[in-house]
Amino acid sequence: MAGRGYVNKGEYKAALYIRDRFEEFGLRPVGKNYFQCFNMSINTFPKKIFLQINQKTLHPGIDFLVEPSSGKGKGKYGVFRVASTSIRGKKDLLKRKFLLVDKSEVSSKDEQAAMDLWMSRPAGAKGVIMIEDNKLTWSVARKQNKHPVVRVLRTSLPEKPGEISIRIDSKLRKKYHTQNVIGLIPGTEKPDSFIVFTAHYDHLGMMGKETIFPGANDNASGVSFLLNLAKHYSEKPSPYSMVFIAFSAEEAGLIGSEYFVKNPSFPLKQIKFLLNFDILGTGEDGLMVVNGDYFRNYYSLMDSINTDSKYVVSLQKRGKARNSDQYWFTEKGVPGFFIYTLGGVSYYHDIRDRPETLSLAAYSDIFRLVLDFVNRLKDF
Ligand SMILES: [Zn+2]
Repeated sequence: MAGRGYVNKGEYKAALYIRDRFEEFGLRPVGKNYFQCFNMSINTFPKKIFLQINQKTLHPGIDFLVEPSSGKGKGKYGVFRVASTSIRGKKDLLKRKFLLVDKSEVSSKDEQAAMDLWMSRPAGAKGVIMIEDNKLTWSVARKQNKHPVVRVLRTSLPEKPGEISIRIDSKLRKKYHTQNVIGLIPGTEKPDSFIVFTAHYDHLGMMGKETIFPGANDNASGVSFLLNLAKHYSEKPSPYSMVFIAFSAEEAGLIGSEYFVKNPSFPLKQIKFLLNFDILGTGEDGLMVVNGDYFRNYYSLMDSINTDSKYVVSLQKRGKARNSDQYWFTEKGVPGFFIYTLGGVSYYHDIRDRPETLSLAAYSDIFRLVLDFVNRLKDF
């Protein structure tokens, strides 16, 4: 599904797949159909990406990343190495050059932040090469800068970089049409009271023609969990209505869930509890409960169920966080948790987040924990 992003209709293919499962399990649409549609801007890289430094061809996703907000650019340029923020007055020198930025050579955080600003305004240069000392971690951007920017691993950079040959065709899609996918199983006793399960189905998509970000842990794992819950409750309906929402555009800045909260298909007041699943592929070190430190009574319930039944090795809690789709709901006062697994592989927002790397160590235990927890929500 092209990494469930915005090249080759990846997110749309994923949305159709989820809609078909909802239909197969007999879920009902909440609105006219299963889709809640919206538009947004997104920067994409649909064409082949090419990068050589000193005639060494670098491999996208392995040696370098294109900065998500990168502009387009092609040609051959000189390289001007900068290891301090004082490049004022060097405009003429930089004219036909790329800045090679080594943040490790400045120690102050302020100076490093000033260097980050060159990504949008490279002080008269043609583009920017940022040296990356840690792993390559990609994301998506909703705007496009004027100049091309690449992030190259230090270990992949040839010695004394003097010349860059580059081709990046960025395409800013100003009104990309996408959709949340929503389905409902009516409750048997209290159909106006909703338990809501959410998981984002989008990921980062593709960077150029060959580089795919599969996003197995983030968040195919959460979507599969959502679908398993949908299947379960379609066979065993609960007293409450169960709503299943697969959000789009989470990686673009929680856009799908923000749209839903601003345009809810039903009053948010009807939500008794919300559970958001984002990264459930491991679990060797247990489970993190975001909002556990905020909705403490609910956390105590989940923790006691887990202790009694010995499901996952440990539960940990933290407070509110703007880190996944539960965020907007929490801000509106909807009680809910975001849970993610701890331990195992740490591939994240890179080309290595693939299904075969996931242990699913806690997957079925979390499933039982969630069923028990939801069952006990009637006490609240
Ligand atoms: Zn995610």
